[in-house]
Amino acid sequence: MIEHNYIHDSVIAGELLLFRTLWNDSDDNMFIVSLDNNGDFISESSNRSLEKTFGLRENQLDGQKLQELLDEKTFKTVTNRYKECLKRNRPITYDESAILDGIHERFWSTTILPVIDKKSNICKIFGISREFTKIITIQNELNTLNETLEKKVQERTRDLKIALNEMKKLSITDKLTGLYNRLKLDEVLSSKVKLLERYDETFSLIIIDIDLFKNVNDTYGHIVGDKVLLEFSTLLKNSVRETDILGRWGGEEFLVICPNSNLQGTKILAESLRVEIAAYKFSHIGHLTASFGVTEFKNEDTLQSILNRSDIALYQAKDSGRNCVESMA
Ligand code: GH3
Ligand code: MG
Ligand code: MG
Repeated sequence: MIEHNYIHDSVIAGELLLFRTLWNDSDDNMFIVSLDNNGDFISESSNRSLEKTFGLRENQLDGQKLQELLDEKTFKTVTNRYKECLKRNRPITYDESAILDGIHERFWSTTILPVIDKKSNICKIFGISREFTKIITIQNELNTLNETLEKKVQERTRDLKIALNEMKKLSITDKLTGLYNRLKLDEVLSSKVKLLERYDETFSLIIIDIDLFKNVNDTYGHIVGDKVLLEFSTLLKNSVRETDILGRWGGEEFLVICPNSNLQGTKILAESLRVEIAAYKFSHIGHLTASFGVTEFKNEDTLQSILNRSDIALYQAKDSGRNCVESMA
């Protein structure tokens, strides 16, 4: 029995030492609040860490009523938690925050535990608070970084879309004239050939080849030749209808795809283009002419067959002495 008491006392002494060490040396805030006979909560004791947090002298709060220490709202919140803790007779954990320097909000996770001595009928609360302001600060910084990142990603995506559109445009544009290039013309023609097989619609083609263009280069040089090609393109662009699709087929050859146009109507358009070109006075070189091959889509056509017909018509125009329109049905 004596031996048992001895062990028991030493264990308690050890635990007390442990608690004292924790109380004195921990960075966590600790406090003991007791409930007096009048039902008032008294700040019985606070550890040094808590006092330092609130900028207090040693033992400054000890023995004071909470009601006199806290503003009304905080007092209500705090004492409601204490009462609940005592009533339920089990620990409660909650987060709380305060602005102690008038600027920065600080955050703590607090656990309060009931200490009830049934014999002496004394009720106390032991509380321990650990600050987690740093975590919140890092979290906020992370959120801000995420938002910045999100914005950057959106900006980059937008830039990429613009660049992609630009590239798409470039990939279908002829560099010298700014008209559609052969790639685009091929694409439009193929889709028209495929699509119109199934519908009762038509379209026609005009292939235009500048007459004796080699002479222009030979006489005035390649740079002037380029300028003439550009001027020629502008002339065509301003003269075809809005629904027509105009492009540079290659070299000094151009193609006009005329949707919903039959051979007759397209020959009239080609003739008007021929007249306009022949009448136009180009800078540096003066007048030049072009030859035209016209054909209309047939249901059994492939891309190759319709292009072949327009080519044959063009050769006929060249054979007929140039500066004329020939067609092949
Ligand atoms: P034809 O009436 O039979 O069509 O005679 P042509 O001289 O126009 O035909 P040919 O095919 O013999 O010559 C075409 C010329 O077009 C030769 C080539 O140097 C010129 N050419 C093709 N592309 C360009 C270009 O981008 N710039 C310049 N300056 N000349 C080009
Ligand atoms: Mg040619
Ligand atoms: Mg030519």
